[in-house]
Amino acid sequence: MSAIDYTRLAMPGVQQLQPYQPGKPISELERELGISNIIKLASNENPLGTSPLALAAISQASDKLGLYPDASGYALKQKLAARHGVRPEQITLGNGSNDVLVMLVEAFICPQCRPVMSQYCFAVYPIATLAAGAEPLITPALPQSHPSMPLGHDLDAMLAAVDEHTRLVFIANPNNPTGSRLGAAELRHFLQQLPPQQIVVVDEAYTEYATDQDYPDASQWLDEFPNLVVTRTFSKAYGLAGLRVGYALSNPQIADMLNRIRQPFNVNSLALAAAEAALDDDEFIQRSCELNKTGLEYLSKALNDMGFTPLPSAGNFVLVDMGEPAEPWYQGLLRAGVITRRVANYGLPDHLRITIGTADQNQRLITALHSLRAAG
Ligand SMILES: *Cc1c(COP(=O)(O)O)cnc(C)c1O
Repeated sequence: MSAIDYTRLAMPGVQQLQPYQPGKPISELERELGISNIIKLASNENPLGTSPLALAAISQASDKLGLYPDASGYALKQKLAARHGVRPEQITLGNGSNDVLVMLVEAFICPQCRPVMSQYCFAVYPIATLAAGAEPLITPALPQSHPSMPLGHDLDAMLAAVDEHTRLVFIANPNNPTGSRLGAAELRHFLQQLPPQQIVVVDEAYTEYATDQDYPDASQWLDEFPNLVVTRTFSKAYGLAGLRVGYALSNPQIADMLNRIRQPFNVNSLALAAAEAALDDDEFIQRSCELNKTGLEYLSKALNDMGFTPLPSAGNFVLVDMGEPAEPWYQGLLRAGVITRRVANYGLPDHLRITIGTADQNQRLITALHSLRAAG
């Protein structure tokens, strides 16, 4: 052993960091329990897998793996620009949208900056902030008793927290892990109140699933709010989580800054080809959303009937208050071959986050919960 404690040489923010805790992989549980037929409802992946158009594009692109990918992502940007009604210079591609979130922090942070984010926001925002040497400013979430947005972002509290040291504000709409979502009027109002030198990141990772009338597509407001950045991903509804591709839409100056620090080949060639093809597969998205809607209704009702408290969700997952420590339920479900997500690291030890699966998978989860309850 060395006499030097190398952890002490790391930046204070890095020493303080709790690493992101991903959902347990199926292969790991297989090894641990020696069981098969495991289902994973832990990472908000698409239970239908991947768009068939994307799969075809991947196999076509696989004969060019000896070559570097197109560092500019020209073809994908063209297609995204047309879809969102923006110019290609407004797009930054990322190795997952996680990558663009980190780039945003790296490009715009300063040591005194305190990016504003809500309690129970997506864990990557505080992690990226601490890793960049700054402190997040976390505002209290709405209470669980709130009629429309339990545990959701309190925009008034966030607005009140913004000052000259802010620089970045993070909003997930819908938010993970809470499932809460903001309506068009309240989000617009928030953007209107904010000084233009404060950059607002609206993370729309679950936008395809949020289909109610009042839900805003913030990308439509980019011309109006030059300080707005919208992030999207192919990981969730498009079913490309394993390939890692996402993007940011912003004004060209912000995109220019992100592109300066972006690793030149951050999006690999299979991901570029798959994303481009997936954008054409409206049928896959529609099927995914319909399955999600039915599954979310089924799960919410079944969980409610069992006496748990599922929170309203605009995403492809549901946050459930188990009414007691969730850990024994989590462990019991693992033994039954059902992987869910603990959220104690978010400060929610009584809750589980459950991804909406296929009808069979949802039923299996409910059956497993009934068995656990019967076994005491
Ligand atoms: C899953 C998720 C992301 C991004 O995932 P990537 O796979 O990195 O694109 C971003 N924001 C939220 C809120 C998410 O839940």
